[in-house]
Amino acid sequence: MRLHVVALGCQMSVADGGELAQPLIARGMRPVAEPKDADVIIINTCTVRQHAEDKALSLIGRLKTWKDENPARILIVAGCAAERLGGRLSKRFPHVDLVVGAKVIDDYPRLVEEALAARFDLIVQRRGNFAAPGVPFGWTSPVCAQVTVMRGCNFSCSYCIVPAVRGRESYRAPEAVLAEVRAKTEAGAREIMLLGQTVNSWRRRDAAGRKRRFADLLRDVAAVPGVLRVRFESPHPHFVDDALISAMAEVPQVCGHLHLPLQSGSDRLLGLMRRNGSTASFFEKARRLRSALPEIELSTDIIIGFPSETDDDFQRTLEAVERLRPAWAYTFKYSPREGTEAAGRPDDVPPEVKEERLARLNALCDGLNEKAMRSRVGRVVKILDETGGYGRARDGFRVKWGTPAAPGREFRVRVTGASKRTLLGECHER
Ligand code: SF4
Repeated sequence: MRLHVVALGCQMSVADGGELAQPLIARGMRPVAEPKDADVIIINTCTVRQHAEDKALSLIGRLKTWKDENPARILIVAGCAAERLGGRLSKRFPHVDLVVGAKVIDDYPRLVEEALAARFDLIVQRRGNFAAPGVPFGWTSPVCAQVTVMRGCNFSCSYCIVPAVRGRESYRAPEAVLAEVRAKTEAGAREIMLLGQTVNSWRRRDAAGRKRRFADLLRDVAAVPGVLRVRFESPHPHFVDDALISAMAEVPQVCGHLHLPLQSGSDRLLGLMRRNGSTASFFEKARRLRSALPEIELSTDIIIGFPSETDDDFQRTLEAVERLRPAWAYTFKYSPREGTEAAGRPDDVPPEVKEERLARLNALCDGLNEKAMRSRVGRVVKILDETGGYGRARDGFRVKWGTPAAPGREFRVRVTGASKRTLLGECHER
């Protein structure tokens, strides 16, 4: 039995794709790179932007031919778009065998067993060859492992569909997180990426009843033998507090990069977006981070063209980006998502104005990124070799260097140049 997983959207979706695969891998399925070679396809969908949802729907539509070629094949659609569209998905695409919404992912192993056991057994009988269980799945880097620590979001940003499709926050027990980190490190992982929609809101009591917060979890994960680096995505500025800043400054394994979504430089728009923070509170956190960690690099998210955005609002965003100096930025043109509060407002910034603002913002962000990259030429940076000759510096910049390579090891590379988004270097010391 051969399994193919497609994860669309963010890193959480990719991590969830891996989790969705696990019960099937435990049943002995072997991951394959090409959909045409698969007996089972799992699509983990994303709905944060209309474009991501359209991409998922188009892929599901195209897979009808794959299914028609052999009706015993199994198509599972999971994730945020599955949650949002629910029954509409099964109605529009009757060739889908199982729809699993993002809110019930914890229940997925049971659902998939119940819904498909009979069908799997039938196929297995027909084929008569069931691979040995425990085949590792091969679509994550063995050196960098992702570990989900929380799901859902308790905020209600007016443009965002996530709280509706993923539900309220739930936090994994610290013991479960640490057990997964240990298992992944024993399997060769050296960098652990902790994942969650608002990852640093994580809090939970441990088995001994002690209150643990995200800063404690960071310290505990870093202390697991074999862990060279710890990163986390996506932090929310609201939970960037002194405890977290101290942990980042004191624990050498925690990497010096933080993604801090600003969204807009206009306080009026931040209010309409219900961002739960002002530009003043945002910049105060950025200041505290930079004073405790002088080498830290920040990246950010910006939305342009939110309903009622004026030239003045946009100008404030440009000024805020210049002030923040992000190493890189993810920039988005606002588009309404059905089911969100903002979708009730007129989408009144004309498309050509959105285009023009996005182009100006991107030019600014590209310039800042280029400057940050150029400033590294001539420096020696510590990299973790992820795939043999390719990895990242501790501040998140991607680096490519010549041989020799040693996946899983950290060593120093002298930066000799920069191509678009990637630093080029040569081995300095091993
Ligand atoms: S914090 Fe806001 S943007 Fe982020 S997932 Fe929650 S609601 Fe969406």
